[in-house]
Amino acid sequence: MNRFYSNPELSNTPWAHVAPELWVDWGWQIKNRITDISALAQTFELTKDESDGLEKTKNLFRFSVCPYYALLADKRDTNCPIRKQIIPSTQETILGEQDQSDPLGEEMLEVAPNLIHRYPDRVLLLATDRCPVYCRFCTRRRIVGRLEQQATRSLLQQALDYIKRTKEIREVLISGGDALMNGDQQLKYLMQEIRSAAHIDVIRVATRMPATCPMRITPALVEILRDYGPTYIMTHFNHEKECTEAAARSIKLLLDAGIQVMNQSVLLQGINDSVEAIENLNRKLVFMRAIPYYLHQCDLAEGISHFRTPLQTGIDIIDGLRGRVSGLMIPKLCVDVPGGLGKVTVQPDWMTERSNGIAKFRTFRGSGQYPDIRPADPIHADMTKH
Ligand code: SF4
Repeated sequence: MNRFYSNPELSNTPWAHVAPELWVDWGWQIKNRITDISALAQTFELTKDESDGLEKTKNLFRFSVCPYYALLADKRDTNCPIRKQIIPSTQETILGEQDQSDPLGEEMLEVAPNLIHRYPDRVLLLATDRCPVYCRFCTRRRIVGRLEQQATRSLLQQALDYIKRTKEIREVLISGGDALMNGDQQLKYLMQEIRSAAHIDVIRVATRMPATCPMRITPALVEILRDYGPTYIMTHFNHEKECTEAAARSIKLLLDAGIQVMNQSVLLQGINDSVEAIENLNRKLVFMRAIPYYLHQCDLAEGISHFRTPLQTGIDIIDGLRGRVSGLMIPKLCVDVPGGLGKVTVQPDWMTERSNGIAKFRTFRGSGQYPDIRPADPIHADMTKH
């Protein structure tokens, strides 16, 4: 039984005559991204709100989608979970009361160009502002896609020098944009430089490519990621429709080379905000051997309040998953506290009471209790005497 969605079908699309070897070339996918309304209209029947959204958000956040990901979306159904992630609506022009341009407080934590140092032992390197697909809910939209330029080596060198001289740093997260928009040579340079610092244990690479452009995961790339490991790929699938045969193959390539793949979904209204949606996604991810790591509460970035769900929605989803699926498929619900204060995880109240050495719980099968250890618990009976 094939558990994954089929790869996109090219017949009756603008790419019907593209040679198969070009279609699976990630460089071709990036070069041939759809970036304007007329090209988009060749693939989708656009609604008035979508056409207006494309027009009105032109100067707010870049629009772009690579052909592979565009074909995962439904041509007609405006409720399609992929379509909602790529085509802007006019709601994006609304500035919500709570919206912030830099909800994670990254600017005040920037210690060198493109380098954020929030937690003592970790840094975040924003190594590019480019992505194969500009997700309409992007939290870093204040910088992502703005220039669409490769960060210069002299700029990156300042960040790398900070990493090398700051001995408390044990982990570097290369992100962006999408970290894998860096070509192999640039990525190799970054990883080589980072690895030259003896105090670095782990390099993490943040990328949506396994979901949005799986052809980016090539044997040559995998070799670089492996050679400068331990490397963790932090990927980002939001819906089961992204779990295609090509996506599964890209994850297999990584895992077979010993590169762990962790998934971070964003909880998005109308896209994946139900127990069923997260269950279906995570069943597929676990079958691919990717770990459902975080389910992120949507941040307070400007113009994305229509994607945000109440915090309770995420709590109810985690509650609904408990007992229904194995723990492997239950991500941590995570809130990035505004103001640069860092992430916290949130979970349902499964412990309903704790007093006098007794902890009471509710589980998916009912209520029960656990006698906690107390300093002077009396011996009930000596078992050797029976
Ligand atoms: S891939 Fe990541 S950084 Fe790029 S637009 Fe999507 S959410 Fe933002």
